[in-house]
Amino acid sequence: MSTSHYLWTPPAVPSVPVRGRAERAPVNRLFFVGRNYHAHAVEMGRPVDKSVEVPFYFTKSPSSLVESGATVPYPSGTRDYQYEMELVLVVGKPGFRVAAADAHELIYGYACGLDMTRRDLQLVAREKGRPWDLGKDIEQGAVISEVVPMPGVVIEHGEVVLTVNGQLRQRSDVDKLIWNIRELIADLSQYYHLQPGDLIYTGTPEGVGPVQPGDRLEGSVAGVGEIVLQIGAAE
Ligand code: MN
Repeated sequence: MSTSHYLWTPPAVPSVPVRGRAERAPVNRLFFVGRNYHAHAVEMGRPVDKSVEVPFYFTKSPSSLVESGATVPYPSGTRDYQYEMELVLVVGKPGFRVAAADAHELIYGYACGLDMTRRDLQLVAREKGRPWDLGKDIEQGAVISEVVPMPGVVIEHGEVVLTVNGQLRQRSDVDKLIWNIRELIADLSQYYHLQPGDLIYTGTPEGVGPVQPGDRLEGSVAGVGEIVLQIGAAE
């Protein structure tokens, strides 16, 4: 199809680099799990009782993706821009209503992610029962590292760390996920036909906090990799 078919230039296909591959992974959708570590749920004032609750999710526009190593502006509309360091699951095969026991079949690999958040706007929306979009779906607010191919591998533990300007801010372990990788795939696939290129940000541990222009964020998930983000001047 020639480009003249469209009134304006269509957006580029969002994609991320893949370790050891020349090809990039095209990205379909960005899912984010809310409150998936007990200590973070408590610091947000909303403890989770898994016996009576189910996971919840929000999404970001695929166009909000930005690669590790970028410098992003401190975004408009907030005075409390915050980091959330997360393990990201990369879906590599389609699946719908997947049993937890079969969930590994959908896994292509993993990455490190930062779920950047206008915390002030998110909390206003939460208290008023409004959607979270302004708090979460932020231009250049879904940060992603290279994807590490680990087909069929279910990560069950691995230290998660985030530093800001070299100072430790978050340290936990994937083994503290409230809903683990298998459970997340099983649950989310009840609502969506999961597709290759869907990214699932699995939630952040405790220690979330604000950033300022000039800050350098460095995160890691043991066994997966590292992620870096530089906060630039306010727009
Ligand atoms: Mn998050």
